[in-house]
Amino acid sequence: MRIVLVGPPGAGKGTQAHLLAKSLGIPHVSTGDLFRANISQGTPLGVQAKSFMDAGKLVPDEVTIGMAKDRIAQDDCAGGFLLDGFPRNLVQAEALDGILKEWGVALDAVLDLEVPEDEIVKRIAGRRLCRRNGAHVFHVDYNPPKTEGVCDECGGELYQRSDDTEEAVRVRLDVYHNETEPIIAYYGEQGLVSTISALGPVEEVTQRLLAALGRA
Ligand code: AMP
Repeated sequence: MRIVLVGPPGAGKGTQAHLLAKSLGIPHVSTGDLFRANISQGTPLGVQAKSFMDAGKLVPDEVTIGMAKDRIAQDDCAGGFLLDGFPRNLVQAEALDGILKEWGVALDAVLDLEVPEDEIVKRIAGRRLCRRNGAHVFHVDYNPPKTEGVCDECGGELYQRSDDTEEAVRVRLDVYHNETEPIIAYYGEQGLVSTISALGPVEEVTQRLLAALGRA
């Protein structure tokens, strides 16, 4: 299956994408994780992306589309993939359509995770990520690790994202409303969108997502 997961910052996209991809047996492709890996390795792409990310803004399309295309062109994505955080605007959505068309394939579904704005702020303030694998996501209150500061899944160190500050979150929410939300209407016209509530226990949200894909 080829799936796009959309939702505002703090909706739990990373957590859900990780679980969903595992359950469906397809790779989880997160452009945010790819950027963060480039930043921690000090690559030129990471250097280019860092200032945009820290400010909560989108990294320019030409950089992002090239990186996403290279990743989904890899062999492990031949049978499907779950995109998390890409596309994030109409230019990227149209570019993805063009790439898939060229390859003679198409998206199967777009899952839209919905969460109220006051919940977003609480979720982001307590969010902690694993340095070894950014898909291992915890929350100090809602989903605490067994040992403080240590990832349950792989023992990696947990840290707070540098763009999880109040100021950057405000910018990220504006960017989401102005640039990302229009892609939901775009995919809606193609009959691809299922909207799912991101509230409630993690496993329940995963079950809702699987049900929307007919895999529950
Ligand atoms: P995420 O981990 O998906 O919340 O992404 C973190 C940050 O990475 C975003 O706020 C952007 O600065 C950047 N980023 C991730 N995906 C994209 C994308 N598709 N287009 C532009 N910037 C992106």
